Amino acid sequence: MEDDQLLRYSRQLFLPQIDVQGQQRLLAARALIIGLGGLGSPAAMYLAAAGVGHLVLNDDDAVDLSNLQRQIIHRTEDLGRAKAVSAKHALERLNPDIQVTAACARLEQTELEQAVGEADVVLDCSDNFTTRFAINAASVKRGTPLITGAVIRFEGQMAVFTPAIEDSPCYNCLYLDRGEVMENCAQTGVIAPLPGIIGSMQALEAIKVILDIGKPLRQRLLLLDALTMEWHSVILRKNPKCPTCSGH
Ligand SMILES: [Zn+2]
Repeated sequence: MEDDQLLRYSRQLFLPQIDVQGQQRLLAARALIIGLGGLGSPAAMYLAAAGVGHLVLNDDDAVDLSNLQRQIIHRTEDLGRAKAVSAKHALERLNPDIQVTAACARLEQTELEQAVGEADVVLDCSDNFTTRFAINAASVKRGTPLITGAVIRFEGQMAVFTPAIEDSPCYNCLYLDRGEVMENCAQTGVIAPLPGIIGSMQALEAIKVILDIGKPLRQRLLLLDALTMEWHSVILRKNPKCPTCSGH
């Protein structure tokens, strides 16, 4: 590691769980972030700042004025730009030490599977069920850990799925694919700092998964009620009849 890297990452290098070896592991890691909105903004910024060496950003949307209340990676001058490009630009200024790839088209089946398969960890920061189920299916197929987050109004939730570990549930064990349309922030609203909390936690869990340290939020769904600031966690079990992960 070079001198400026030792300084840049010094506050992580002090941590015995990380040290030089862990930092090198982060620098060699690749994370796929799907959705560069409220959740993806802080998630991508913390992963970039922490020195996760290659970030692949996927979003097919453009920055809109109504996004700026919570999607803090984008600036007013980015209005109209592709979110993946706007985010890439911000991350390169934050940490020129890492590689950032912007993918501005929706990743369909084969491309999605390939992108998920190439990543050490996938962060689902999307806002609709179709994308969530597609990411989950690719994660199960390729065995890539999936860190999912969601926010609406004053409510947040997150979970970590580790399909390569036996008896792990998947997103489809938790939610059935009934073709429902997810309530989203565009119609229902969300309080500004909430995606910041959940997205930052997704980044933290991603780092833990990459480094294999601590106890990731496996087999638990964490729920936050931001109005009362109460956290709950629900145990998740594999659904033996799950159409995605059960093999039936
Ligand atoms: Zn499942």
